[in-house]
Amino acid sequence: MTVMDDLSPHRLDTLIADLGDMPVITDPTIVRRRSRDFFWYSPLLNEALNGKAADLIVAPRDEAEVIRVAAACARHRVPLTVRAGGTGNYGQAVPLQGGVLLDITALNAIAWIRPGLIRVGAGARMNAIDAATQPTGWELRMHPSTKRTATIGGFVAGGSGGVGSVTYGGLRERGNIIAARIVTLEPEPRVIELRGDAAQKINRAYGTTGIITALEMPLAPAWRWIDVVVAFDDFLAAAAFGHEAARADGIVKKLLSPVTWPLPSYFGALKPACPEGKSVLLAMIAEPSLESFKALLGGRGTITLETPTDETPGKVPLYEYTWNHTTLQVLKSDRSVTYLQCLYPHDRLLDKVAEMRRLFPDEVLQHLEFIRFNGDVTCSGLPVVRYRDPQRLDEIIRLHEANGVYIANPHVYTVEDGSRYKRVDVDQLGFKQEVDPQGLLNPGKMRSFVAGA
Ligand code: FAD
Repeated sequence: MTVMDDLSPHRLDTLIADLGDMPVITDPTIVRRRSRDFFWYSPLLNEALNGKAADLIVAPRDEAEVIRVAAACARHRVPLTVRAGGTGNYGQAVPLQGGVLLDITALNAIAWIRPGLIRVGAGARMNAIDAATQPTGWELRMHPSTKRTATIGGFVAGGSGGVGSVTYGGLRERGNIIAARIVTLEPEPRVIELRGDAAQKINRAYGTTGIITALEMPLAPAWRWIDVVVAFDDFLAAAAFGHEAARADGIVKKLLSPVTWPLPSYFGALKPACPEGKSVLLAMIAEPSLESFKALLGGRGTITLETPTDETPGKVPLYEYTWNHTTLQVLKSDRSVTYLQCLYPHDRLLDKVAEMRRLFPDEVLQHLEFIRFNGDVTCSGLPVVRYRDPQRLDEIIRLHEANGVYIANPHVYTVEDGSRYKRVDVDQLGFKQEVDPQGLLNPGKMRSFVAGA
């Protein structure tokens, strides 16, 4: 059942009238374009979500205007889906039942920066946050590889971890989100500050449990990072060295990503650092740790690139070949592939990587990201999969899980079906009943929600 049948022109006009002079876009071409994200990575989501769109875009300029939109949507029973950078992978920001697409990006002001901590508007882009904090010696602990377009609110509401998670773990780890301020979806919206563990109620809930207007996030020391590429004859040797480097606590790092050949052959501008037939380890190492990193490597691999991370426009930092950018680099020239998201068991990591390699030699092309998870070093896998059909994809997922490699399925769009190990087990469903009793926030994404239950 949908929360509303159709937004009639009259209902639309009444809603817009309630919004006063707030910026609104109704041009169907623009609304359709902005209603999309990167769901097309998945052939299944592409089929399910193509053509879904909001009825209008509303762009509040401050929290008072967010409250006003929320109140209007609650009164007129109109769905509201927040959109930030629009870089999500699972149709997270795609409105399934039309309504308002809330462009949150104007809420981007930094309230304050203190040693190790920032309070910032949810619509702030992560590269802008780092640009503001780095001169004070601090930076975000972690960011997705989409840092240059994605927002901090979109990361907390839709992401899991990324560059930096090798040291700090993912967003789900205690202490990685300090507080979130949210607006509820009720005729008289409330503003709630969620601190500590309570902030997990909005983590990876796809905006179904409140509109985040501000966040308090912990910061890490800002090092001069060096992008390093190491070439190996054998992928398993790259993974084994990555494991040693990840566990070497004295070596300060932000990224350790083993990638099997032939994936580096798709790496555009990075190709000169990716010798034919070699698997690579992509790394970001703090400059003072570079000597120790090289000593640990010994003669096992060849360093083919060593250059300070450069995020200036026109440059491609190394992290844009890692995390889900690895998949994107391949998709740029081969649309027939797709991907998976795996979590390897920390105590049998390298054995399981070798086992998956044997099971799917040319079909599942391995790409790992070293992370900390619940206090242990392990890998998130984002392999590129040569796609055949939905049945075979299911079979590949089943075989991973039967062998103890967990999958967060990126081919489904609901919170429950997709996230699994990426979320902490807090009562997001119960919280939704409190803050969005009519089920108007991104309807259809929290599958187990029933209004009034
Ligand atoms: P959007 O895509 O705009 O939104 C994401 C979700 O959050 C939606 O459900 C939206 O409704 C909700 N939302 C956004 N803002 C708010 C708010 N203020 N209040 C409530 N709900 C809100 N993810 C990772 O975790 N790690 C990675 O390394 C990573 N790499 C990626 C690489 C590529 C090439 C791509 C395409 C995606 C990648 N992603 C990754 C997914 C995505 O880029 C990130 O999760 C990103 O942080 C999303 O931010 P955004 O601003 O684009 O959010």
